[in-house]
Amino acid sequence: MEYIILDTEWNNSFFKLHGKNVNEIIEIGAVKLDGNLNLISQFKSVICSQLTDKLSKRFSDLTNITNEEMSEGIPFEIALQQYSDWVGDDAITLTWSDSDLYVLIENCRLFADCETIPCISNYIDLQKFVQNELTLHGHKIKLQISLSNAAAMLELSTEGIELHRAIDDSRLSAEILQKTFNKERLHSLIVDTLKPDFYERLTYKPYIISDIESPLIDKSKMHFLCENCNRIAERTTPWDFKYNNFRAEFRCKKCGLSFIGKIFYKKMYDYVSVKHYKSPKINHERSSIQS
Ligand SMILES: [Zn+2]
Repeated sequence: MEYIILDTEWNNSFFKLHGKNVNEIIEIGAVKLDGNLNLISQFKSVICSQLTDKLSKRFSDLTNITNEEMSEGIPFEIALQQYSDWVGDDAITLTWSDSDLYVLIENCRLFADCETIPCISNYIDLQKFVQNELTLHGHKIKLQISLSNAAAMLELSTEGIELHRAIDDSRLSAEILQKTFNKERLHSLIVDTLKPDFYERLTYKPYIISDIESPLIDKSKMHFLCENCNRIAERTTPWDFKYNNFRAEFRCKKCGLSFIGKIFYKKMYDYVSVKHYKSPKINHERSSIQS
């Protein structure tokens, strides 16, 4: 069994055919580690854009990839084929957050005519693993920690490493994995991308529900308790939808407390997230989370 740590760099440009902006992969970099985490092979490929001959300034500044370097690259489909050959069939793929997978699947669909990512079956979100490990070892961290911040916390030197170049980022990720490795906990995060709902879940776009008549809205949750009496407060105005929340005024019959109750409904892949907020009736700015 081998571990592949994959990183991609992508440039955002307009895709006329689809009438939308697309993150197009311009570079693929990866390292292959054996079961004992020894580096055994590397992969690097620069891809020639099919959408533009001029990379965005943001991308060029970040990666130092020039328009010339990009134009001498190979088409995505060929790079993907070469990468698949290099990966082999007994590897677990890791990326720093699943956004690389998200962009990869989109590129596979747009530029290589495949609905799934070939060459990736077992997958681990390395960022998620490292965040868990750092927390277990007493570090206080914010979620979605960047690669360079994780390296700094683990006292790994980034000298001589070109951050935001795919191959260097995957090498640094490998060092981070070596430093935090715990096989059992790492493998508990393995996800099988061949499961039928994997890509649906990955590419699902959560959205805020703004229609009060939507069948997704559980109206039984549209009530508020008085913070003094813990009794259900009475709604005194019709529901309004503003700043992504349903909101109305409430009044407690017992103590007379009036406040604005706000409810936020968001449709996720397989559930609806519901959040309640309250703010004083007079000062709308100060709001506090109730649940
Ligand atoms: Zn009350």
